[in-house]
Amino acid sequence: MMELNKLIRKNILALKPYSSARDEFYGDIGIFLDANENPYGTLNRYPDPYQRKLKAVLSEQKGVAPDSIFIGNGSDEIIDLLFRMFCNPGQDKALTFSPTYGMYDVSASINDVELLKIELNAQFQIDLDSLPPYLNDSSLKLILLCTPNNPTSNCINPETIEAILKTFCGIVLVDEAYIDFSEKPSYIEKLSEYPNLVVSQTLSKAYGLAAARIGIAYANPEIISFLNKVKPPYNISALNQQAAIDALLDKEKYESNSQLILTEKENLVQRLNLLPIVYRIYPSDTNFLLVETEDANLIYEQLVSMNIIVRNRNNVIRNCLRITIGTPEENQLLINALATIKL
Ligand SMILES: *Cc1c(COP(=O)(O)O)cnc(C)c1O
Repeated sequence: MMELNKLIRKNILALKPYSSARDEFYGDIGIFLDANENPYGTLNRYPDPYQRKLKAVLSEQKGVAPDSIFIGNGSDEIIDLLFRMFCNPGQDKALTFSPTYGMYDVSASINDVELLKIELNAQFQIDLDSLPPYLNDSSLKLILLCTPNNPTSNCINPETIEAILKTFCGIVLVDEAYIDFSEKPSYIEKLSEYPNLVVSQTLSKAYGLAAARIGIAYANPEIISFLNKVKPPYNISALNQQAAIDALLDKEKYESNSQLILTEKENLVQRLNLLPIVYRIYPSDTNFLLVETEDANLIYEQLVSMNIIVRNRNNVIRNCLRITIGTPEENQLLINALATIKL
């Protein structure tokens, strides 16, 4: 059983959070003379620090209670808050499985936390046998696990994830930034089973809202209440809260865009496979393809010279490019450009 009070940093446990005017009185109706706001304007009022309307929409759509939902300024804020809540700088450690999302490394470094890395195997899966020595280290507080994984585009085996959730006494973040493109179930379903589980999702990918910076964490209410204590009081602007609500409620647009992206992914796979410079396309549960090529550096440079920017992952996975699915027109221009490349 997880003991949150032992896991959380002592200074965070003892933290008396900032109490904003909107903490002390919450409501829409009244004469508000409590927050030194300007009485004139349309954006003159501070936003709801707990994003209640947005959480009500998410709660309804996801079947998760509002007190199990946290909204971050992008998932990146959630990752940073988890480091700050659970890992004492210069002392505690975190663990991830590489290659994976680069922000884990950056966030760990900023917080002066050592990030241990276990290489994924040839199938981009976690080798469970490699885990026990790491899990026995009492300074390991946080495991960051991305599924579907960026940049490998596959899902991590659910048996492996459950084994980690069962045996590890610290916090496990399951980063589901790409879950909306996958048929696999979300780990949200497992929240009641595992008190140490934090699931993060984002509106940056499938909901097309990267500019608005909306990340979502789902976890047990105790963890959520600590996230609320540590976050900056007004971390999500009123404009972005409304943009998130609008995007979530426009189911038709979400469904049609997602469908188009998935159809285009299949088309792109077929057309890429016809090109001799393409050696292999890894199976994708995301809105991008990991493509092994003859010479990723050269192809990357030539594409840039034709104004097409993909992600060169050669230094992470040899000769691999990460290609995001674009519009049908953009994808056609990519194929045309690749067809002209001579190595
Ligand atoms: C894109 C991405 C995110 C999204 O981060 P935001 O801060 O919500 O935009 C999170 N995790 C992974 C693995 C990603 O690739």
